[in-house]
Amino acid sequence: MAKQEVIDRALAEGRTYLMEHESKAVLESLGITTTGAGVAKSEDEAVEIFQSLAAPVAMKVLSLDVVHKSDAGGVKLNLRDADEVRAAYREITQAFLDKKVAGISVQKMARPGVEAIVGVANDATFGPILMFGLGGVFVEVLKDVSFRSIPIYASDAKDMIEEIKGYALLRGYRGYSSDIEALEKLLMAISDFVIKNPVISEMDINPVFLYPDGYMVVDARIILGEPRPAPQAAVEQDLHDLFYPRSIAVIGASGTPGKLGWNVFTNLVSHKFRGMLYPINPKADEIHGLKAYPCISAVPKSVDVAIVLVSAGVTADVVEECCKCGVRYIVVESAGFAELGEDGKKIELLMKDIADRYGVRLLGPNCSGIINTHCSMVQSIGIVDALSMGNIGLVSQAGVCAAGMLWGLRHIMDFGIIATIGNKLDINETDILEAVSKDENINVICMYLESVKGGRRFIDVARRITQEKPIVVLKSGRTDAGKKAVASHTASLAGNDLIFSAAFRQSGIIRARDYEHMFNLARAISKQPLPTREGVFIITYAGSLGVIAADAITDNGMRLSELEPPLKERLKSLLPDYVCGMNPVDYTFSQDAETVKKTIEIGVDSQDVGSFIVVLQAEILGSYVDTLKNIDYQGKPIIACVAGKEFAQTDVIKMENAGIPVFGTPEQVADALGIMYRHQKRVAKEKS
Ligand code: ADP
Ligand code: MG
Repeated sequence: MAKQEVIDRALAEGRTYLMEHESKAVLESLGITTTGAGVAKSEDEAVEIFQSLAAPVAMKVLSLDVVHKSDAGGVKLNLRDADEVRAAYREITQAFLDKKVAGISVQKMARPGVEAIVGVANDATFGPILMFGLGGVFVEVLKDVSFRSIPIYASDAKDMIEEIKGYALLRGYRGYSSDIEALEKLLMAISDFVIKNPVISEMDINPVFLYPDGYMVVDARIILGEPRPAPQAAVEQDLHDLFYPRSIAVIGASGTPGKLGWNVFTNLVSHKFRGMLYPINPKADEIHGLKAYPCISAVPKSVDVAIVLVSAGVTADVVEECCKCGVRYIVVESAGFAELGEDGKKIELLMKDIADRYGVRLLGPNCSGIINTHCSMVQSIGIVDALSMGNIGLVSQAGVCAAGMLWGLRHIMDFGIIATIGNKLDINETDILEAVSKDENINVICMYLESVKGGRRFIDVARRITQEKPIVVLKSGRTDAGKKAVASHTASLAGNDLIFSAAFRQSGIIRARDYEHMFNLARAISKQPLPTREGVFIITYAGSLGVIAADAITDNGMRLSELEPPLKERLKSLLPDYVCGMNPVDYTFSQDAETVKKTIEIGVDSQDVGSFIVVLQAEILGSYVDTLKNIDYQGKPIIACVAGKEFAQTDVIKMENAGIPVFGTPEQVADALGIMYRHQKRVAKEKS
């Protein structure tokens, strides 16, 4: 029977579950190899099917009431003759007297192979997801599985297979390897099938046996659900003027220090926003020397962005007024909406409705606006000190944290755009990400996320961006609260955080472990190019730190570089007698800026050097700044490792401003370089 008939019939009967023989028929029609399964309704029929197959056979109960067949004695294997088939038929029937049995399947015994599982589950954020893992203890105990959002590309199928710990087993173990190409095709076929059939909600192919030549699906179950809505076509949006407005009105601007309306307006004025500013406040004539207006409709010129700081209760009215006056973007920084409960949610829906009606885009509510150093615009709720223009984008769900971090970080890293998104009533993280990525001033994007709206678009957009600009994400809310009961094994394995990690990998996003990690990576990536080779050249004044660095780069998938013979000679002539190692080069306390420079220049000339780690002495860090700054590294990254750097702040800031990131430990340096190297490799692979 063709697959559509099987599915249609099940749906017509109001079923949500395709039994094994039906599921296998569906898979067969997709060109997937299964054992097949004949359905017997009597002992004689079972023998008849047995005789049409080569012995031995397997027999299994078929029932809509039985999901795990073997648990209850519903699977009999290795049946070799008619008597065994009859006995198995009777035993299975006996064991399921209390269940509605649709028949007993008789099927070929598959020859043994590596047991694997392929499954489909439905994720609340990302929609259908595909799972792959090795069967038995690998999945049950070790949870050694990989996920990707559906649809997948060929490179995703490859990644899914290579990602599991048991991959080495598939590559070859005791002379036995698996047909990885066939497996990739199987994953692609399932992905394609799910995309074309929105009623498929979950699936377990468990097990599929993998062979040196091909595979065999031994058991399959397909779960049907409400058809998934068709994905919305991505609309190219232009948010440019939200980030580069010509004019801003601040509704609720205040001349009274301590009020949020004072903070926001003061930030805009003190950072010298390069555009028109209109404070709106019926009780003031002027604020910070600028003429105040009683309402937005009193402003004589057109307004690109209105920042709304009035209390939640009147926000919807203000939003409507802004829309009527032709404001193009509304940034609602006020809080007290959906985050507080049902009443707030109602106001949000009302605001969204109004904005949609007028075609106006809305950021927030409950956010801290946008900072764009390239047009001197600071909309933050907290007072922000002087900022330099930079190439780092930061998208943060929470506003306060972005500003809080900024106070210190601005000394050692330069941001271009910081956008806070708050409750994401209209503009969400993907919209902002897309817009920020288009900005020529931005080279790397950090994101702090608690949730994602419309997961698949996020993956598609991020995947495109990471080809050009790295994205580093810190995602919180990793614990799995309130997971509902699920029908398939796959779904029970698909923890929310695992899916996020998989989605990030699928899009080439770098996932940070914590805030410090995120900003360390952003700092390194924003100041230095990505390594294109795995060889690392280590120059140190402390032998131990050199050894630790050597270990750490190995842990991070890189290795010590090896100089070409002529370069070795060049280095030898430079080294004092007591220095013997060529990498790490340990100058002990005779290390100074000139020797480090000459050594780096040798590394720059080497084909095997992809990056530099220089271990510098905190107490003389300042003496290196100018020299290191003026070396031509020819596209090879350098990161300084300075033990005790937190006590050498002034020089660290100088070094950072010279474009050389300073990290406290060799492990942190190696971690960052490793991540940068792998990212570069992935981008190159995707492009080829
Ligand atoms: P369950 O519903 O319990 O998952 P399965 O159909 O997966 O039932 O059968 C249980 C186990 O029996 C499988 O994991 C596999 O090891 C073995 N098995 C089942 N069918 C076959 C078959 N046709 N050939 C070889 N082994 C089989
Ligand atoms: Mg099974």
